[in-house]
Amino acid sequence: MKEKLTTNKAASNAALLHITTETPFNKRHDCWFCGEPNQYVFTYLNAFEPQLSLPSCKECYQVAKKSMSKANYEGVHHSIWTIKSDVKHYLVQYYRKDLAIGINWTKIELEESEFEQGDFAGFQRSAWFMFELAKARVNYISWPLIVDGITVPDEYQEQSFNFDDVVYPNIEQAMQHYANTLSLSLDYFRSVVELLGDENFAKAVRFCRLLVAANVFERQQALRQLRIEITSLNR
Ligand SMILES: [Zn+2]
Repeated sequence: MKEKLTTNKAASNAALLHITTETPFNKRHDCWFCGEPNQYVFTYLNAFEPQLSLPSCKECYQVAKKSMSKANYEGVHHSIWTIKSDVKHYLVQYYRKDLAIGINWTKIELEESEFEQGDFAGFQRSAWFMFELAKARVNYISWPLIVDGITVPDEYQEQSFNFDDVVYPNIEQAMQHYANTLSLSLDYFRSVVELLGDENFAKAVRFCRLLVAANVFERQQALRQLRIEITSLNR
């Protein structure tokens, strides 16, 4: 019942509100979410905000639609920024292995990796290209949304976390990605980031890599030691 009311309200609001978001001329072929060529139009519709029509590639369209349907079904409010965050989350996961290239290699190292011959030649050729492509889609800066002459405040930008040239939807996802790529315990890594602070993300990565094969007990000890050091530094 509640769900039906929401849908009806959304429909009537949509009829009342006139929707204008302008796509800049040089972006007219871009997907609003990722910058790939657009073939679809994603229509953002809920009971609270004006409807938005955004050009989108097939992949982003599907993820965005799923995110919106889920929110509408559960009766929760997903702003366009929550939906964008879901799309970027999907892209980070989809490109997990390609993004990992940039964590494990530099371009020069990869070129000099001496895999030109044999089974890994193809990998060496495509790896950096795939990393750049993945990064471009994940980092793509959507053009501002202007509705009736007013720019919709960009909540995505506020929550996103920029590390080593990649923009993650939030710090939690950056932590998951690094833990996964470097085989770190996520809980341990989270605790270290918490102790050192978000601004010391790189240091937290290095700290966790010191004890990459450690067991739970050793990690607990390391955390205790780190806590003591930080406390004494702050004294
Ligand atoms: Zn896209």
